[in-house]
Amino acid sequence: MKVLMNAGPWLPVPPRGYGGIENIIATLVPELRRLGVEVVLATVGDSELPVDERVSVFPSGRFELLQRPYNQVCGVVPAHQHAVVRRLSEGDIDLVHDHVEAAGLTMLAGLGHDAPPGLHTLHWDLQKHPELYGTFDGGPRVRVNGVSADQLTHAPAALRSHAIGHVHLATPLADRADQRPPVRKRPYAVVLGRITPGKGQDLAARLAHSAGFDLVLAGPVGPYQQPADLAAADPQNPDVRFWHEQVAPHVDGDRVRWIGTVAGAARDDLVASAAVALFPLRWNEPGGTAVVESLALGTPVVGIARGCLPELIEHGRTGLITTDEEELGELVHAARNIDERECRSAAARRFTPAVMAETYLGLYERIRAAAGVP
Ligand code: UDP
Repeated sequence: MKVLMNAGPWLPVPPRGYGGIENIIATLVPELRRLGVEVVLATVGDSELPVDERVSVFPSGRFELLQRPYNQVCGVVPAHQHAVVRRLSEGDIDLVHDHVEAAGLTMLAGLGHDAPPGLHTLHWDLQKHPELYGTFDGGPRVRVNGVSADQLTHAPAALRSHAIGHVHLATPLADRADQRPPVRKRPYAVVLGRITPGKGQDLAARLAHSAGFDLVLAGPVGPYQQPADLAAADPQNPDVRFWHEQVAPHVDGDRVRWIGTVAGAARDDLVASAAVALFPLRWNEPGGTAVVESLALGTPVVGIARGCLPELIEHGRTGLITTDEEELGELVHAARNIDERECRSAAARRFTPAVMAETYLGLYERIRAAAGVP
């Protein structure tokens, strides 16, 4: 089977730093190739992921354009999509797997009847961001998958009618996670993620003081990666405002610290050494890469029982979840009794790249069968 994987023109695959969608593609593609799938990757020129063939218009990622109003960037997506459509017209692609939001669906909807069928993966909380798709359903040739069952239940009805199921996210850290030696835990909770209202860092910081636990916040504030970058930050950026108004007042550099974005081994050490990974969610976390990474690193998850969390966390076994914000502080203390080996073995069983790729391959085969492709 030859699949055209459309990653869009925003970032290289794998991304050099932040990049949720590009990270998932970088995790998925090598496993699909191991299963015998040929992959043509539509991406930017400086992507380094090994693939069978690459389609690109732009030499490097255009992520900076995402920070600008849509009408200033609208040439970029069509130019990229045009190259994808041209490649499809060569006639040897069996299926398109698209990750480019409504622009990707528009492209799939515009393909002729002899074009291959498409699978479009949703990546956002569509209750919080309904504007991403409106009432557009992508047309009859497309099937849609979520990254959690919960995400699909909040998707617009038009998209839901095309749903073919959900596929949980995976992490390479889950490979043999159950065989790695345990790491010495230190008594702090970590919140790893973009600092933004949906991720609830304000709640975490407030609870750290009232319930009495040390807290490390790691992640960027909007496009600003490190504390020093905030000096020149745009004060109107909503995440910058959230930081200044709701999080920073609780950050004392002692009980609660913000260390900016962490990457690579430093990120893994930070999470593996934490007693608890905290997810004080205020949005329906759609897929939760950081959740499955925490489990793979042997760190129990404590969080608000919404979005993907109830699907990913076995309450009492790999973490503790509640719908009560005030109870979270107590759960941070209680989670120290959770056995980190349970977290690692759940990750090794459920969240490996191989599990994700095999599930996607099953969807590809169902879509091709439904489209009458031999
Ligand atoms: N991440 C990171 N360093 C940071 C903050 C986040 O490497 O300082 C990574 C995190 O490990 C995860 C990704 O960024 O792989 C965030 O994905 P997730 O699905 O958790 O959240 P999103 O930002 O996509 O809503």
